[in-house]
Amino acid sequence: MIRLPDSGPGDEADDTAKPHSPEEVETLDLRAPRYTSYPTADRFVEAFGPDDYAHNLAAREMSLSIPLSVYVHIPFCESLCYYCACNKSITRNYSKAERYVQSLLRELSMVDAQLGGDRRLLQMHWGGGTPTYLREQEIRRLMGAVRERFCFSSNGEYSIEIDPRTVDTAKMGLLRECGFNRISLGVQDFDPDVQAAINRIQPAEMVQSVLNTARALGFQSTNFDLIYGLPRQNPAGFVRTIQAVIAMKPDRIALYNYAHLPSRFKAQRLIDMDEMPSADTKQEIFHLANEMLDAAGYDYIGMDHFALPEDSLANAHRTGRLHRNFQGYSTQPNCDLVALGASSISRIGNCYSQNFKGVGDYNDRVSQGILPTQRGIHLTRDDILRRALIMSIMCQGEVDKDSFEITHLIDFDSYFASELQALEPLRNMGFLSVEDRRLVVTPTGRRKALRVISSHFDRYLAEHQSRAHFSRVL
Ligand code: SF4
Repeated sequence: MIRLPDSGPGDEADDTAKPHSPEEVETLDLRAPRYTSYPTADRFVEAFGPDDYAHNLAAREMSLSIPLSVYVHIPFCESLCYYCACNKSITRNYSKAERYVQSLLRELSMVDAQLGGDRRLLQMHWGGGTPTYLREQEIRRLMGAVRERFCFSSNGEYSIEIDPRTVDTAKMGLLRECGFNRISLGVQDFDPDVQAAINRIQPAEMVQSVLNTARALGFQSTNFDLIYGLPRQNPAGFVRTIQAVIAMKPDRIALYNYAHLPSRFKAQRLIDMDEMPSADTKQEIFHLANEMLDAAGYDYIGMDHFALPEDSLANAHRTGRLHRNFQGYSTQPNCDLVALGASSISRIGNCYSQNFKGVGDYNDRVSQGILPTQRGIHLTRDDILRRALIMSIMCQGEVDKDSFEITHLIDFDSYFASELQALEPLRNMGFLSVEDRRLVVTPTGRRKALRVISSHFDRYLAEHQSRAHFSRVL
């Protein structure tokens, strides 16, 4: 176990980031979803098709004023990162991207023709793959088409994932000019040895330069994605990475646990298992990183996310206005989500709808003038109330039984009798408590057990599924 450098305020950090005890490891070392949706995508069915999605888009006309969020998936990358679990296509043949953008524009037109209701756009995110793989003409055409159909809001959050290796000052300026006001940078680890092992070479100076440019251009918020559990990582090296990150002071940090699932993600088979950190080393890295970010003044938001206290995400967390969707935590209220592109998942009213995953299948469908929906789900009443409960745990860390009963017309304790009983060991370990008819996740529980507590309310996990394809919690 290495010692942290003396950092003054670190002495005052709370103890919620302490390493897991053996008893905690025994209880928490299992696989569980990250709950960006409920039900999780593996519950979607192919009986749900384009007509169902179109019907739900049109039915927005009947609903109260619900604003929108738009997600655009750009699946292309120039080179393969060995840890990758995304839906992507590695190619240097740019004509594929041009063809794909044509499909996106056509899909957007088809959605536009069906979409009823409020057109206010409070949130937009371009993810991938690598959205900055696109060149100027395609970025302008795509953004222009979105602007034609939706009303951007002065306080909206419009973000894009940036691979630092794919942008220069001109492209950053273009993104700002097009209306993006937030960026998310894939950093992972600054250690050159680790970067070589994952086939992603991007020196810290490159990231610093993108960050400087973003700040000069007036982007409001910057997120860094970091990953622990990668090959060749060790505590000393990751401490240096976190020190460098803290010096750069991004507004938000996501510290992801690397999920090694080579049977599902081919790229991960290129990782040398002999170079993987042990479970103990991984835990040590995680806890050192938590302590350092706490000591540097970052607020812990939940599910491995941190934000500076003045950032809107930290403010939403403090005031109980945090939300969660496919992009992770968000300050925006529950919008309907229109998702465009291969594999993307829309959430409209009480349904989820997912597009075909392969670029070829997606292009084919769209070129035939058919919405490219491959599968989806209509939520049942039970799904709706469990979704509300799980999101309340993930975002607010508590559930008020009385207001939940009024909203969902159930008797909380009898409806969830078996779940509450199953939670007893976690309660005894201090991860949650029941106070005045409120189920409250403790600060330690928020740090260590949010996924596990939530998974106890997942009916499908309890009744039908193996957990094998979800990532490990620890
Ligand atoms: S991690 Fe990102 S940049 Fe790397 S291959 Fe996957 S999608 Fe592409």
